[in-house]
Amino acid sequence: RDFCKSLPKIELHAHLNGSLSEKTLTELGSSPDDVAEYQRLQRTPPEGRNLSDCFKIFGFAHKATATPEAVYLATKNVIREFYDDNVIYLELRTTPREEVGIMTAESYVEAVVKAIQDNTYDILVKLILSINRQHSPELSKNNLDVILKLKEKYPNIIRGIDLSGDPHKGNFEDLKILFETARKNGLRTTLHCGEVKNDEEVSQILEFRPDRIGHAPFLHPNYGGCSKNWNLLRMLKIPTEICLTSNIISGTTKSYELHHIKEWIKHDLPFSLNTDDKGVFHTDLSQEFERALKYLHIKNEQILEISSNSVNHSFATQEEKNKLQEKLKEWVYTNC
Ligand code: IMP
Repeated sequence: RDFCKSLPKIELHAHLNGSLSEKTLTELGSSPDDVAEYQRLQRTPPEGRNLSDCFKIFGFAHKATATPEAVYLATKNVIREFYDDNVIYLELRTTPREEVGIMTAESYVEAVVKAIQDNTYDILVKLILSINRQHSPELSKNNLDVILKLKEKYPNIIRGIDLSGDPHKGNFEDLKILFETARKNGLRTTLHCGEVKNDEEVSQILEFRPDRIGHAPFLHPNYGGCSKNWNLLRMLKIPTEICLTSNIISGTTKSYELHHIKEWIKHDLPFSLNTDDKGVFHTDLSQEFERALKYLHIKNEQILEISSNSVNHSFATQEEKNKLQEKLKEWVYTNC
């Protein structure tokens, strides 16, 4: 625990509204009943729920972050909590959201950016904006317009675009044009991929050649995927954002011991370890590393290598990456 806790960590896959702690929900005025229900859902054993049930939990966070002031406070708290866990680099992602008469997609993103700008802790924070696959292509197009406008305004904070949302709904092909436009405009791309068995979509996503993919539990043939896609991933070596606890709790992976990441390790494919939704899945990045040590028989040296590789997979500038690598090296000199 001490090793994982004190290690300077890199978080590349954290959804803002999935990362809210119970303390933050209370601070934002969630009712005791809502917080109790949030806790109950968090602690329901995985056998008792599925991926769609997990999506219901986000409703509690969205209810609490329905004004720009609440979004600002939520973002500040999330940054501080990652900092407290010795995360030195955080890529936070969130979906621009409108609350009629109260908040526009633009004022939502502005509130998140302001909290990042006001951060005084020693943690570098970047923003990835999400396109929700459940939204209509029209709404997503409007959100992309906002994203591109604000990317011009804050080029060193808004670094990437993500495809997320309930994988049972919508499809990548209808949204591909938006991601092509985002890429042309200088945004890095990361796409949730293969969270349910859908070889055709996984193939389309890989063919798009995003900078990173998320989760990928149904990609390897031993886990329900097809050889063609697995071979393509092996060829392209697109880094995969792995979220161990999230996969177990949402039931996309049977157990830590049998996690699909074993195939990535066996074939020496690039990946990072992440929390996904530290509030919803009741975890933090130190615990994710501990679980990797415990269940995947990864050694401390490999954990260091994963951290260092994660810096390279990040959407930071080269200069920022160099500084982060220095920080990691300093820690190794002092602690190993
Ligand atoms: P937000 O984008 O800050 O509102 O964070 C919550 C949102 O992230 C959810 O409503 C989903 O759209 C998305 N999300 C969080 N976790 C996952 C996941 O594991 N798979 C796909 N989408 C996710």
